[in-house]
Amino acid sequence: MKRDYYEILGVDKNASTEELKKAYRKKAMEFHPDRNPGNKEAEEKFKEAAEAYDVLSTPEKRQRYDQFGHAGVSGASSGGYHVDFDVNTIFERFGDLFGGNFGGGFSDFVGGFGGGGRKQQRPRVRKGSDLRVTVKLTLEEISTITEKKLKIKKKVACAQCAGKGTKNSTDIVSCPKCNGSGHVIHQQRSMFGIMQQAVICDQCNGEGTVIKNPCSNCNGTGTMNGEEIVTISIPAGVHDGMQLSMREKGNAAQRGGINGDLIVAIEEMPHETFEREGNNLYLNYYISFPQAALGGSVDIPTLDGKARIKLVAGTQGGQVLRLQGKGLPEMQFHRKGDLIVNVNVWTPKTLSKEEKENIEKFLQSDNFTPKPGKNEKSFFNRVKQFFS
Ligand SMILES: [Zn+2]
Ligand SMILES: [Zn+2]
Repeated sequence: MKRDYYEILGVDKNASTEELKKAYRKKAMEFHPDRNPGNKEAEEKFKEAAEAYDVLSTPEKRQRYDQFGHAGVSGASSGGYHVDFDVNTIFERFGDLFGGNFGGGFSDFVGGFGGGGRKQQRPRVRKGSDLRVTVKLTLEEISTITEKKLKIKKKVACAQCAGKGTKNSTDIVSCPKCNGSGHVIHQQRSMFGIMQQAVICDQCNGEGTVIKNPCSNCNGTGTMNGEEIVTISIPAGVHDGMQLSMREKGNAAQRGGINGDLIVAIEEMPHETFEREGNNLYLNYYISFPQAALGGSVDIPTLDGKARIKLVAGTQGGQVLRLQGKGLPEMQFHRKGDLIVNVNVWTPKTLSKEEKENIEKFLQSDNFTPKPGKNEKSFFNRVKQFFS
């Protein structure tokens, strides 16, 4: 549901042109993207205020709005009004309203968004494309901060022209089509009058300059194929499929813009001993039949060496042990997961004659007849142990 335009600007229904202008300026300053970097909500409010001001400051639109509400000024009849109302058009249409009010920050912002106010137009900044690579990590590497050196094939700045596209800077001239602004104004006739819209100049791609004698090595693009060794520090506890972004480590932009980003996707390699679930590790561990009966110390493998634990005499197969903090670190927390050990009793698959005779003696002993208690009987009790 769209908000009422008067309410957006905080003025009453009889507000004069001057009051509207004042109210809009105030809102525009408050929600200016320069003052609220990365704040989507502020950007929306900034656009909302511009839209409200656009309607209320145009007498015929205001009249239709007063009479029919939003339906009178939006919809297909006005050519998808809301859609082409982006941050750039706001500056294009109302830039002179702000005057010098925003100081230097204002023009920075205009440059950053690729648009331009009427007074201070700036060519847009090119950005290179993003690159993606996959890094395979073992669980051991995931358990700690890991540095990886990656050899990346990418577009780099042309060595012959230093990315400028030409060897002589005098060969870079102002674009004749847009006079160096990077934009040309298109006029569109609609039922509400002539609409002006700035579009990116197609001759210079919005850059404002063209090259007279392009560099022979790069044909004036300013880039060439190359490679770079990038060192990435991967935090402990990453997961399979996670993506880390390295700003401006991607492809070079044409003619000296900003590099794209390097997106590093994490691939976890299967481990021969452990299985991972979240930050817990699972291990299937076998003890011998005498160990189970007699108890004693065993050395359980963990990601950082062995952990010695004591088995009680009469340990059953299927018993679950939990080694706290022997799992993987949780990203951004000082917690660690656990190592959950499923204890199995190894039964020899072949026996020597002597072993066979010895074990046969135990068959007669009532002590060796299985007598499972409640815990041994219930599968669920064992599972519950796990989560306690
Ligand atoms: Zn070149
Ligand atoms: Zn141009």
